Amino acid sequence: MNEKATYIVMLGPPGAGKGTQAKVIAERLGLVHVSSGDLFRENLSRETELGKLAQTYMTKGELVPDDVTIAMVKERLSRPDCALGAVLDGFPRTPAQAEALEKMLAESNGRINVVPLINVPDQALVERLGGRWMSASGRVYHALNNPPKVKWFDDVDGSPLFQRDDDKPETVQHRIDVYKAQTAPLIAFFKSAGLLVEVDGTQDIDKVTEDILTAIGTAC
Ligand code: AMP
Repeated sequence: MNEKATYIVMLGPPGAGKGTQAKVIAERLGLVHVSSGDLFRENLSRETELGKLAQTYMTKGELVPDDVTIAMVKERLSRPDCALGAVLDGFPRTPAQAEALEKMLAESNGRINVVPLINVPDQALVERLGGRWMSASGRVYHALNNPPKVKWFDDVDGSPLFQRDDDKPETVQHRIDVYKAQTAPLIAFFKSAGLLVEVDGTQDIDKVTEDILTAIGTAC
C-alpha cells in the first residue's frame, strides 16, 4: 500500500511568519514549500493574465477569487515534485478553498496531517508588516528585527530591497480585517477535524520552528 503524501497547512494572520516558517519546515522535512502569494507574485513578474488579474486584488489587500486561486494551486500540487506532499503557506484562505483542497487530496492519495496556527497579536502584526523589506529573490528582511547588513540591499546578491505594495500602512490593517472575516473561520474548521495545533508566534523564530516541528512529530 502506498504511503499517503504529507500536507502541512500553515495558518495564521498576515505577518505571523507563515512564509519564514513554511520554508524552514519544508527543508527540514524534505517537502516542497508552496506559497500561493509567491505563485501570484511570480505570475505578476512574468506579466501573465493571471498575474495581472491577481494584482488588482493584491494591491488592495483583498483576496483573489477562489476559482482562479484554487486552479493555480491545484496545478502546482499536481507537479511531480509534490508527490510526497507539501507545506502550504497562504492556502487555503477561505472555507471554499479548504473544501477544494480536501477534495484534491482525496483524489491524489494525500491528506492534511497537521495545521499549525501561528498566533500573533494585531499590534505586532502591524509593526512587523510595516517594517518588512524583500529582495527580488524572495529573501525577507525587517528594518528592526532582521536588518540587512547594508541598509536597503540584499545580503546575498546586493540587489535593492523593496517594500511589497500590500505591506504599505494603508493596506496592512485591511489585510488583517480580511483575514478575520474570511480566513479565521478555518480555525474552527480544522479544529473540529482534530488537525489544529496552536503555536505562539511572538517567540524567537527558532523556537517557533521547534514548536511547529514538535506538533508535526506528534501528529504524523
Ligand atoms: P501572501 O504572500 O500570502 O501574504 O499573499 C499576498 C496576497 O496574495 C494576498 O493578500 C492575496 O491578495 C493574494 N493571495 C495569496 N494567497 C491567496 C489565497 N489563498 N486566496 C486568495 N488570495 C490569495
